[in-house]
Amino acid sequence: MKQTVQMDRIQEKMQPGVITRDGFLGREKRKLIDVLIEDDAAVKLRNLTHQDIAGRMIELRDAGLRGLGEFVNAEPYFEIRVDSVRGKLPCPFGDPGIFPKTNTTVRNLKIGREITYTDLNIHMILAHGFYEGRGSPFRPPPGDLVEILEVKIPAE
Ligand SMILES: [Zn+2]
Repeated sequence: MKQTVQMDRIQEKMQPGVITRDGFLGREKRKLIDVLIEDDAAVKLRNLTHQDIAGRMIELRDAGLRGLGEFVNAEPYFEIRVDSVRGKLPCPFGDPGIFPKTNTTVRNLKIGREITYTDLNIHMILAHGFYEGRGSPFRPPPGDLVEILEVKIPAE
């Protein structure tokens, strides 16, 4: 698939210093379209959708809100911390709305791994299937999300 001119403009907004200091693409030298295609394939391979993953991210974030910035337990073996930092960010894809700088950290005590994601990550995954580029400090890789959050294939 070929990248559109519109996607070139989005990719420019993802560079360091435009919306965020570090940008959204890490060390990627590839076109945005190729980043999207690769992560989309990784999700499809697991018989999941971006909506399934984002839905689970929202569920666990909401379960962690009552901790008010401290880790709280969530059944069956998760610890979740939701931290809010001042400020809001727009989505680089240019759709309306700005997103609070909320970081959710989920620890899966069964497998001893944790992952952190932001409200903007949730939006970009849900609306655009975008997990940020490799090497981006805020990239939650789709495979890690599925394993650590235990995203389940929805029942028919
Ligand atoms: Zn968006």
